[in-house]
Amino acid sequence: MSQWRNWAGDQRCTPSRVARPSTVAEVSSLVSAAAASGGTVKAVGAGHSFTDIALTRGVQLQLDGISGLLSVDRAAKLATVAGGTRLHEIPALLAPYGLAMENLGDIDRQSISGAISTGTHGTGLAFGGIATQVRALTLVSGTGEILHCSATDNSEVFSVARVGLGALGIITSVTLQCVDAFMLHAVERPEPLAAVMESYGERNALHDHFEFYWFPHTDMALTKTNTRHAPGGLPAGVSPLSTWAHFVDDVLVSNTLFSALCNVTGKLPSAIPKANRMASGLTGNREFGDASHKVFATQRTVRFREMEYALPLENIPAVLGELDAMIKRRRLQISFPVEVRSAAADTVALSTANNRETGYIAIHQHIKTAPLEYFKAAEEIFRSHAGRPHWGKWHFLQSKDFAQLYPDLELFCKVRDDLDPRRVFNNAYLARVLP
Ligand SMILES: Cc1cc2nc3c(=O)[nH]c(=O)nc-3n(C[C@H](O)[C@H](O)[C@H](O)COP(=O)(O)OP(=O)(O)OC[C@H]3O[C@@H](n4cnc5c(N)ncnc54)[C@H](O)[C@@H]3O)c2cc1C
Repeated sequence: MSQWRNWAGDQRCTPSRVARPSTVAEVSSLVSAAAASGGTVKAVGAGHSFTDIALTRGVQLQLDGISGLLSVDRAAKLATVAGGTRLHEIPALLAPYGLAMENLGDIDRQSISGAISTGTHGTGLAFGGIATQVRALTLVSGTGEILHCSATDNSEVFSVARVGLGALGIITSVTLQCVDAFMLHAVERPEPLAAVMESYGERNALHDHFEFYWFPHTDMALTKTNTRHAPGGLPAGVSPLSTWAHFVDDVLVSNTLFSALCNVTGKLPSAIPKANRMASGLTGNREFGDASHKVFATQRTVRFREMEYALPLENIPAVLGELDAMIKRRRLQISFPVEVRSAAADTVALSTANNRETGYIAIHQHIKTAPLEYFKAAEEIFRSHAGRPHWGKWHFLQSKDFAQLYPDLELFCKVRDDLDPRRVFNNAYLARVLP
């Protein structure tokens, strides 16, 4: 059997078999067969999780054959896509109806099911993660049953299954609450970190989508502020990036040059502070506008590992200060910028923004750099501020740690017992994080 690897290349497994079903009935019989024989099944999306959440020694389901638009209710702005659909395919599917997804993360390579299952999010204090856009799901449970759920249909299942960690069933369709297609006006500026921290709450409240990158060993941040406009409503003079500008800024500087810097600093860590000062000066001082999905999603070609914690929004400045002090105290050399985003509170049981306005802090290490000291020390800080780890990114928590973080964990486990009594969807990750 051939080995499967995630995007970063460091999580690997050899499934007993790879199945590529093209109908929901096939998914159901694959799951039923595994349940009958005491085996396991794991759906995989784009393999963009940094954790071992998608690994299996059992049957791996690749759902590219269960993909595309299933139905649209234009009046209600609801679109149902098949479970294997990739996020980057969705804009073209919605375009004929004048619809778009409300918010997205940094990239669009993930599958819709993989993205919601780990709580993938973008930024913007008035918006939740992608799972909050979901109005209904169809899943194949651990007994092979095909189950539809929404706020009115199997509502208990729906309340937990939108961020389901792949533990509750194989998602075969997702109904999204879309919005009218819109444009984004993007303003990217290098700014002193202190000024950004002082106005952090205000900027999040004022702007539709605010985020920033802080370059460790510098006192500079790169801010990104995106404002929503109706099609044709961008301010005068604001236009899309030319293909050349896109290539220079996003491919050459953000990926190729950054990769070269990482290679140099990998061999010469003492050059990192200088390289970060250079990077913070080279990236981001531009203004442009385009269709929402083209502004939200960027390219990532440099391979890295990532940890991201969800924190009470008001704690962000203090946590960043502690992170900076820790990096200095331990004399760590950190070449990747720290990314800071936000999201509205939501009611999805295992969403990292459950019941609180959230600030996210993401830290990264180049794939060739040992991540443990930085990640473990940062996690200590995040945990001391009641942080919740992203389910698809590095963390060292175990099941006992989650009870106090998620008030609805018990309900999640009850639904899991109902839907997957034989633990057909189990793997080492779920065995570690769920009771
Ligand atoms: C370069 C990069 C950028 C990223 N940017 C962001 C970001 O901006 N914001 C953010 O929050 N995260 C981000 N992530 C993390 C990423 O969005 C999540 O890890 C996401 O889960 C990956 O989706 P996937 O389709 O690759 O799923 P996979 O990693 O393949 O799978 C994740 C989980 O979903 C389950 N799953 C997949 N398909 C199904 C299905 N049909 N039914 C049931 N379960 C299923 C899998 O079993 C597994 O448990 C990024 C990751 C990378 C590598």
